[in-house]
Amino acid sequence: MKYEEVLKKYFDKVYTEVEFVKKTYQVLEPLGFNDENTIAGKCICRDEISQSIRSVIKHMWGEAFNFSSLAGMFFAGKTGLAAAMHHSPISGGKEQYVFYALPHIAINKEGRIGVCRREGREEESTACGALNAFQKEMASGKVNLTMDNEDVEQSLIRMRLLREIPYGHVPDLLELTRTALKAIQSDLETTISKVVDTNKSNYAIISGIQIHGPSGNYVWPSECYTVVNGKRETLNLK
Ligand SMILES: [Zn+2]
Repeated sequence: MKYEEVLKKYFDKVYTEVEFVKKTYQVLEPLGFNDENTIAGKCICRDEISQSIRSVIKHMWGEAFNFSSLAGMFFAGKTGLAAAMHHSPISGGKEQYVFYALPHIAINKEGRIGVCRREGREEESTACGALNAFQKEMASGKVNLTMDNEDVEQSLIRMRLLREIPYGHVPDLLELTRTALKAIQSDLETTISKVVDTNKSNYAIISGIQIHGPSGNYVWPSECYTVVNGKRETLNLK
């Protein structure tokens, strides 16, 4: 299968990064979120091919608080989130936040999942490299479950994602990326429930998967919603 067919098969709707962030801004603006009263936060992989969306978020919302670890995992915890939660301007007595949670995956022009080319290099590369390394480890039958102090984030990825994977099952990279998305969103939500006072703050969660195609980056939107005055409303970005 070629790239377009693979994309269509696994992702029901994709936007370019600019379209996606613009769309989120357009649906959030009537709900009281704008670039003057809102701080954005992001969980995006450290990989440089992921950073283009950071620039788009900055362009729409201004500088964003960075919660990102390898694979876009949310390991910033209560301390990280509590720090961000004291930064928004106060407008109408409330603070406004928008959180982008976007792990990533590559698809090359032949439709191979996880494979990309990097400028100036002949050999194939992978994205997400951290998730791919963990997937290979699982496939080998041996997973290192210790906390390696010289490899802290990768140790945390293994420990966190294994909680979501049935014992003995080896997901492929696409399934593992969806598992990472679920974990990032869930950890963000759990931490929000402990740190955020919805009497003082309104927020939005925008989750999805960033896709590196042969000629640019795209985003597949997953669950997106707002919590305004403590009330949750789904955002339709499809
Ligand atoms: Zn990555």
